[in-house]
Amino acid sequence: MTWQLKEKLQKTLAEEQGAMVFPPGSRQSFALVYPNTYHVGMSNLGFQIIYQQVNSRGDTACERLFLPDRKTEPEYIRTNTPLMTIETQRPLYGFSLIGFALTFEMDYFNVVNILQLGKVPVLAADRGEKDPLVIAGGPCATFNPEPLADLFDVFIIGEGEEIIHEILDVYYQARDNNISRQEILFEIAQIPGAYVPCFYQVEYKEDGTIKKVSCPEGVPQHVQRRWIQELDQYEAQTVIVTPNTEFKDMFLIEVARGCGRHCRFCMAGYCYRNPRVRSLKTLEAAVVKAKEYRSKVGLMGAAISDYPEIDSLCNIILEQGMHMSVASLRADTLTLDLVNALAVSKHRTITLAPEAASIRLRKVINKTITDEHLFNSIKMAVNAGIPHIRLYIMIGLPSEEEEDIEEIVTMAITIKEYMESLGSRGRLTLSVNPFIPKPFTPFQWMPMTQVSVVEKRLKYINSSLRQRRGIEVLVESPKEAYIQGVLARGDRRLSAVLLDAHEKGGSKGFKQAMKKNMLREEDYLYRQREPESEILPWKVLDMGLDSLYLERELEEAKKEEFTAPCAQGCTRCGICKKG
Ligand code: SF4
Ligand code: SF4
Repeated sequence: MTWQLKEKLQKTLAEEQGAMVFPPGSRQSFALVYPNTYHVGMSNLGFQIIYQQVNSRGDTACERLFLPDRKTEPEYIRTNTPLMTIETQRPLYGFSLIGFALTFEMDYFNVVNILQLGKVPVLAADRGEKDPLVIAGGPCATFNPEPLADLFDVFIIGEGEEIIHEILDVYYQARDNNISRQEILFEIAQIPGAYVPCFYQVEYKEDGTIKKVSCPEGVPQHVQRRWIQELDQYEAQTVIVTPNTEFKDMFLIEVARGCGRHCRFCMAGYCYRNPRVRSLKTLEAAVVKAKEYRSKVGLMGAAISDYPEIDSLCNIILEQGMHMSVASLRADTLTLDLVNALAVSKHRTITLAPEAASIRLRKVINKTITDEHLFNSIKMAVNAGIPHIRLYIMIGLPSEEEEDIEEIVTMAITIKEYMESLGSRGRLTLSVNPFIPKPFTPFQWMPMTQVSVVEKRLKYINSSLRQRRGIEVLVESPKEAYIQGVLARGDRRLSAVLLDAHEKGGSKGFKQAMKKNMLREEDYLYRQREPESEILPWKVLDMGLDSLYLERELEEAKKEEFTAPCAQGCTRCGICKKG
């Protein structure tokens, strides 16, 4: 019943600190949607940053909406109740502006579900003058929004703190001037970083590759990524604390954004350049604020140990009597102070990301970590009293051979023996993920390794290490990774596939939906694309990289050459001179 569903949302709201609720009618309203459950969505700092930005305007009330959990969703369907926001329990269709945060490809299935359950026309083309304008931002919108092109009116390419205000300003003004939906979209398309997909026509060749992308006069041929020059100008820390999320005991603080390490598989490394940090003063203020709510801070950023003043930051946190946590660390920049601070914070596991075991493969992907770095980091951790080690590994990397897989097994055994030689009885966990060649990386033209090969290699790793005491292997489902691969690299014909898959139960109906739309997964996954001749689906987007930069990096990968990290005064990739 609706009142029970409303009550559930009110209970969630009552358990939060920091949510902003405004009297009805006092402000314009904006629904901010995370296409997954509350538990997942509220763990996302980017989502909270946009919530804070929109509410800070003074003229707009931002209200959050999530996918109901598995138990609650059938109740919405049974009672024909539209999805409602947390803050005022208003239905999604009642908002004139809706913004989605797109972080994971597998959430695309939930986008369709939420629009349908929220009673908003799922296809942008079906929305009329009175229907909401549906916007999306986040990493997936930035590197390749095309598979969702038919579902959204606008995509935000890059970081959202500034452009969200520009879009709202243009929208409010245009609406006051009583101009049509199409004209509003045209105005929004003029904002740098705003991609309005309906203005771009994509033509395909008979073989399914893209023949041409065209747009009318007045619409930019390329959409430039937006990025914040001075991080300190925009707060990026937990806005709402709640016990109902993954980081329930933590206050999250963004330390840095972008990464200058140039790992060749890493979309974030290319799409969030250049690397920027917050000042220690700003972070100190955030730590003091955190203390009002929680006794632990979670430091967020691509490579936390790269923060130039990481030791001072750790000391500030400990001096405040707080504990701290980080996601994963660079083995080559780990410091004793950082490890000790994590140990004092009762961290039981250190996570390192060598990604590959063989030195040759690390050169291909530009992971400059050596075995010595790994062993030193493990020694520091064990000596500090942190018992468990977790290693991130990818399989199916370009040029990977059986020997590279053997080396993963050898590395795991050697590291476990080393841990034991240091007196550690802790667990070694290998977290193994199939590699997906992502857009805007040097590997964007490369095929994904055949799923059968990946499965065989995973099986080998598993069976070789299964009997070893204290070694655990966690594997991401290859089947899911291959759906992710199609969605990450796909074009706008996949919008129809997502709609059909939704009818068949979401991701489990994906294969069938591909068939129905006469599309082949192999064409998206296993085909080598030619840099000189193939038009990639994300061609309209401009990350700011020099046109031949990624090709040059691909050549370096083939030669197994390292590329140096970002440095002061460097203009190598084109971002800094354009910034
Ligand atoms: S260290 Fe490498 S993998 Fe990690 S964020 Fe930076 S570029 Fe990406
Ligand atoms: S121009 Fe140089 S420093 Fe700037 S992002 Fe590119 S590689 Fe890094």
